[in-house]
Amino acid sequence: MVDLQGQYHAIKDEVTKGMTEVLETSAYINGPQVKTFQKNLEDYLGVKHVIPCANGTDALQIAMMGLGLKPGDEVITADFTFAATVEVIALLQLTPVLVDVDPDTFNISIDAIKKAITPKTKAIVPVHLFGQCANMNEIMHIAKTNNLYVIEDNAQAIGATYTFKDGSQAKAGTIGDVASTSFFPSKNLGCYGDGGAIFTNNDDLAHTIRGIVNHGMYKRYHHDVVGVNSRLDALQAAVLNAKLPNLNQYNKARLSAAQKYDAAFKNIDSIITPVIKKNCSKTCDDCQCHVFHQYTLKIKGVDRDALVKHLNDKDIPCGVYYPIPLHSQKAYKDARYNESDFTVTNQLVKEVISLPMHTELDDEQINYITTTIIDFINQN
Ligand SMILES: *Cc1c(COP(=O)(O)O)cnc(C)c1O
Repeated sequence: MVDLQGQYHAIKDEVTKGMTEVLETSAYINGPQVKTFQKNLEDYLGVKHVIPCANGTDALQIAMMGLGLKPGDEVITADFTFAATVEVIALLQLTPVLVDVDPDTFNISIDAIKKAITPKTKAIVPVHLFGQCANMNEIMHIAKTNNLYVIEDNAQAIGATYTFKDGSQAKAGTIGDVASTSFFPSKNLGCYGDGGAIFTNNDDLAHTIRGIVNHGMYKRYHHDVVGVNSRLDALQAAVLNAKLPNLNQYNKARLSAAQKYDAAFKNIDSIITPVIKKNCSKTCDDCQCHVFHQYTLKIKGVDRDALVKHLNDKDIPCGVYYPIPLHSQKAYKDARYNESDFTVTNQLVKEVISLPMHTELDDEQINYITTTIIDFINQN
C-alpha cells in the first residue's frame, strides 16, 4: 500500500544528518530538532501554534482536554472514520454522537450534523477523510450559529488547501478552533515511528495545551491541571525536518497517481472514482484541494470482497477503509442510534476499496493494478 523505502532513499542524506545531530548532542527530548520542526510546520501551515506530541490519537485527546470539555458533553463526529476519533471522545467520558457521511466525499454529512445537535452538544469533530477537507464552509457556519467548538482531525489531509465560498483559502487543520494530526509512517507526512501534533491560532488555548502535554506543568513542578506525557521524539523530529520541505511535492505525486487511476477507470460503469468537491476554479495541481492519503473507489454491482481476494491472489495490496461502521462496533454501540440514520455508511462499508497510494508509484505499477481490476470486473 505504501513504499517507504523508495522515499527514504531519496532523502537519506538529510535524514542521516538530522539524526546524527540528535545523537551527537544527546538532545533526545524537546531538543532543537523539535523546536525547528514546530517553527517550520507553523510557517508551512500558516498557523500561529503547532504543539508537537507523541501521536495523532494523543493529539485529538489533548485538543479536547485543552478545550475543557466535560463528561456528558456531546461531541458529534463521523461514523465512517478510523476509531481513534471516537475513542478519545469516549475515553474522556464525553458522549460521542456518530453521524452519517456524504456518499461522494465520505466526509461528515452537513444535514446529519444539523439533525444531531442538542442543547448538550459542545463540539464537532470533522475528519478530513482520505485527504480531502470536510465541508468546512458549512461546518464553521453551524458551529458559529450553535456556539460549538470545531476540532479538525487532520491526520489524513496535511498539506491540503481548503477554499471557502468567498474564495479565501486556508490549510487543512487551521480552520477550526484546534486541530490534530498524525505523523504515523504511512500518513502523507510520516516519520519513522509515532508522532503527532496539535495546531491552533488561539494563544490561550496553545498555552493551556503546552502545559497539558507536559504533565499539566506551566512552571516546573507546579501542576495546575491534570496533564499527560506526550512528546514528539527528537529523532522523529529530525526525520520530519528532512521531509517537510518535500511535502508539497509528495502530495503532488499522490495527486498525479490518482489522476492516472482516474483515467484508467474512466469508462468502467461499476467503478466510481473519488469525487473532489471544491469551491475554487483552479486545477487540483495548483490548489492541492485533495492530497490523496487514500485512493478509494466505490465498487457497484460487483462483489467487492471477491475483488479484494483476487487482488490479494495477484499480490496487489489493497485495503478496506473502513469495513465496519463505528456505530456498529461493540465499544461504541448506543441504543440511541437508528440504523436508518446511517444508510450511507452502511452502504460504503460494503463498496469501498483503497488502492496502493504513495509517492513512488510508477506507471507500470498503476497499469498492472488497473488492468487487473478491470479484467476482474469484465469477467464478473
Ligand atoms: C491515523 C489516524 C489517527 C491516529 O493517529 P495515530 O498517530 O496513529 O495515533 C486519528 N485519526 C485518523 C482519521 C487517522 O487516520
